[in-house]
Amino acid sequence: MTLGIYIQVPFCQTKCTYCNFHTGVVSPERFEPYAGAVCREIAETVAVNAPVVDTVYFGGGTPSLLDPATLRRIIDSIYHSYQIVSAEVTLEADPETITPEKSSAWLAAGFNRISLGAQSFSDSELQAAGRMHRRADIFRAAEMLRTAGFDNISMDLIAGLPHQSCGSWENSVMELLGIRPEHISIYMLEIDDGSRLGKESLAGGSRYSAGQIPTDDAIAEFYESACARLAAAGYEHYEISNWALRGRRSRHNLKYWRREPYLGFGAGAHSFDGVKRWANVHDSARYVAYMEQGVSPQEQIEPVTPEHALEEEFFLGLRQLDGIDLEHIESAYGEFQHDRVADLRTRITGLRSQGLVELEGARLRLAPDRLTISNEVFVELLG
Ligand code: SF4
Repeated sequence: MTLGIYIQVPFCQTKCTYCNFHTGVVSPERFEPYAGAVCREIAETVAVNAPVVDTVYFGGGTPSLLDPATLRRIIDSIYHSYQIVSAEVTLEADPETITPEKSSAWLAAGFNRISLGAQSFSDSELQAAGRMHRRADIFRAAEMLRTAGFDNISMDLIAGLPHQSCGSWENSVMELLGIRPEHISIYMLEIDDGSRLGKESLAGGSRYSAGQIPTDDAIAEFYESACARLAAAGYEHYEISNWALRGRRSRHNLKYWRREPYLGFGAGAHSFDGVKRWANVHDSARYVAYMEQGVSPQEQIEPVTPEHALEEEFFLGLRQLDGIDLEHIESAYGEFQHDRVADLRTRITGLRSQGLVELEGARLRLAPDRLTISNEVFVELLG
């Protein structure tokens, strides 16, 4: 089985109001030591059983903040330690960080896919969310990437930003479709209590426009109208939050939903080798210090028990609209977890009668009109 590699770059220019990721705004002087630590971790990690890498993903944070030469250094260190074959190599980029020179340098460094964090085409929504870019920057960025030669671009939108209305959402979707990226992600805003927006939602106040967040019903309507628009425009809806033109699904993210192995490098990066999951220390300064001292940055090492593996098959696999193969589940887990599998069979029957899931042959999938309540379905199935 092939391996995916994820590189975490936990630095941003500002903190978006809705974000509670372990990312920070730091001096650019810290970028180089961080990259050096990542290269060292890559060189010192021996991957057993899966030496061929076919996806590489630089995420964050805002990895496009790093100098292209620094990104190249990290890519070169991956090539030095692993066999890379026909790889999809993705860089997450924020629109305002993109220049023609950087675009060409990214392509030359080996990136062949850019994931562009558009989020909205409304300047007032972008401003309220604390984003640095504006609508015009998105068009400029897409143009620069195309001119440089990128033929695989993904773009994100968020449904549920403060000040979003039915009209502004429709406009964002249509403007996005006008650019015709190969891949689209649409996330329904989930307010994290630890974010500035979440704190304001709980405590009150108007600084981050928490009072202007659309209702859950409105957000669900935004999502469903986007589903219809994207389908009409020829995009395959292949995962709850993801659409692609033919042949352009995110090969890297598919590994997560299919429980295939991946190694994460950098502060807070997660890894899965098929039998255990682990994460690196979140604090980037501590991560660099550990790597410089020769101390392993890994923590939270958790073996994946057969019970947990079975649950993952459902709550990760069912995110894909193709669903999961129940025959495979029965043959892989039925013998050792007979009672749990029998319990799941009963629960599936109940969910089918409520119209929440569908069964076609041996394939189980979420009902297409219930994707907005997928979390509730997972709780009922696995609870
Ligand atoms: S750019 Fe992304 S990671 Fe950084 S603060 Fe905004 S949402 Fe969070």
